Amino acid sequence: MSLEEFENFDINAKRKELIAKYAPGLGFSADEIETLYDIVSTLNTILEKNKVREAARDWDHVGVHVKDGNVVLPDNFIKVVDEIVKENQLYSFFLPRDLDGLGFGNLFQGVISETIASHDIALQIMVLISLSVVEALVQYYKPNFEQTLHEFAEGKRLGYVAFTEPNAGSNLEAIKSTSELVGDEYVLNGTKIFISNGGYANTGLFLAQNMVNGKREGTNVFLVDKLDGITTLRVEEKSGLHVSPTSQIQFENVTVPKENIIADVGNGYRKVLERLMGMRIGVSFQGIAAAKRMYQVSLDYAQTREQFDQPIISFPIIRKKLSEMQKTIPRMEEYGYRAAFSLDRYNHGWIPTDVGAGGKPGPEKQAASMVPGAVRGGIAHHYVSSSKLYTSEIVNQMGYDAAQIFGGNGFIAEYEVNKLARDVRVLPVYEGTSEIHDAILTRAERAVQMIPTFKRLYETFPDSTVYERILFERFPEMKKII
Ligand SMILES: Cc1cc2nc3c(=O)[nH]c(=O)nc-3n(C[C@H](O)[C@H](O)[C@H](O)COP(=O)(O)OP(=O)(O)OC[C@H]3O[C@@H](n4cnc5c(N)ncnc54)[C@H](O)[C@@H]3O)c2cc1C
Repeated sequence: MSLEEFENFDINAKRKELIAKYAPGLGFSADEIETLYDIVSTLNTILEKNKVREAARDWDHVGVHVKDGNVVLPDNFIKVVDEIVKENQLYSFFLPRDLDGLGFGNLFQGVISETIASHDIALQIMVLISLSVVEALVQYYKPNFEQTLHEFAEGKRLGYVAFTEPNAGSNLEAIKSTSELVGDEYVLNGTKIFISNGGYANTGLFLAQNMVNGKREGTNVFLVDKLDGITTLRVEEKSGLHVSPTSQIQFENVTVPKENIIADVGNGYRKVLERLMGMRIGVSFQGIAAAKRMYQVSLDYAQTREQFDQPIISFPIIRKKLSEMQKTIPRMEEYGYRAAFSLDRYNHGWIPTDVGAGGKPGPEKQAASMVPGAVRGGIAHHYVSSSKLYTSEIVNQMGYDAAQIFGGNGFIAEYEVNKLARDVRVLPVYEGTSEIHDAILTRAERAVQMIPTFKRLYETFPDSTVYERILFERFPEMKKII
């Protein structure tokens, strides 16, 4: 690849193309797409005005700690969060139209996630996890959730998701936390670990066993909209994402009204698995944002760093690394946008592929009624898991190449490339490990086979990149879908 080809590569061209391709199929008008771009532009203004990329280096250094039971974050980090969430009321766009929102779903969440993560992934986590709670309240809507949704829209609430426990990570059904109905309230008890935003955010989802007469009868998920009875035991020291609180939190006789249950009594975890996949899209777009930054900073460095009296980009082996990155980034976007689109269509009750009727509620529902619910769900899972697995694994390989281009500086913490490589290490772990998504893909493949007109993603790319070849060796299931 020539120097010109690197310089002429428009890193955001694919994004525009994919939004234009998919947004109309979700019923969004040209004006609504324009609104999305306005939001992205406002976010970029806030992020640049606050010099978030530079500040993120300090945040990474200072990190987060617990003082007198409170989670303490850098002041200017909180200021940026407030500006996005309170002053600009970011979550209001994600409320359904009949609750005065704009009905934004995962396709637009992806773009917004990428925009913020491109400045700092930890900031994206702090801001966007709230949408997991909003997603749960919207997907399993009950009138008593309306007030909380409006408070999210007004920026009065920040979200967390408290599922993981010391002995229950990938296998969440092994949780020990309990919920017991006493009168009209559930009493919640248990200790959760690794909770992003835990102890800082005021509104969460809590997963617990459903205890009836001392026996377990399935699992429940609750909306917990206050901090009373919740203690932050510690925040973890991590190899990356230092300013994102990853907390151990204890729930001691926390009471919530029985109406705060999400979906059905005793069926919480299954319902969560079935529908709440938005943050997997968020992680895919963290990966896309990081991959683009890795490419940009490595390209700049390779053009300016000289060895043997020439810029290191003149060495074919360095150019090869950059060209593999450049070739792979649009593929990450193809998978990410396709997954978000498919999930949004599934959430609308439509067929989660482009086999539907083009974003028209009546005909879409009619078309979807011909396909069993399990098959529709399976297809959505297939796209979401393949995108999350592909992006999170590959961005780690890219992080290795990008840091290598920086030589010794790639190992020095103050360089953005070093921070990016450390931060993305967790992408293949949270929101379902790569191994778990590999297993989901095996199951979902059967669902995919049942719609013969289903357009396969791998038709798009006839060849493979070096990153994909490594991925196939490690996760053979992915080879079937690329
Ligand atoms: C920074 C960070 C933030 C997090 N944020 C949150 C949060 O906000 N809320 C929350 O609830 N949790 C959160 N988590 C927890 C995260 O979701 C879990 O760490 C993850 O699900 C894996 O669980 P585990 O760590 O217990 O690993 P384990 O489940 O013990 O897995 C260990 C290894 O075994 C593999 N494995 C497990 N089961 C299988 C299987 N069936 N087949 C093949 N391989 C398998 C895994 O893939 C992994 O490689 C966070 C974690 C981190 C590190």
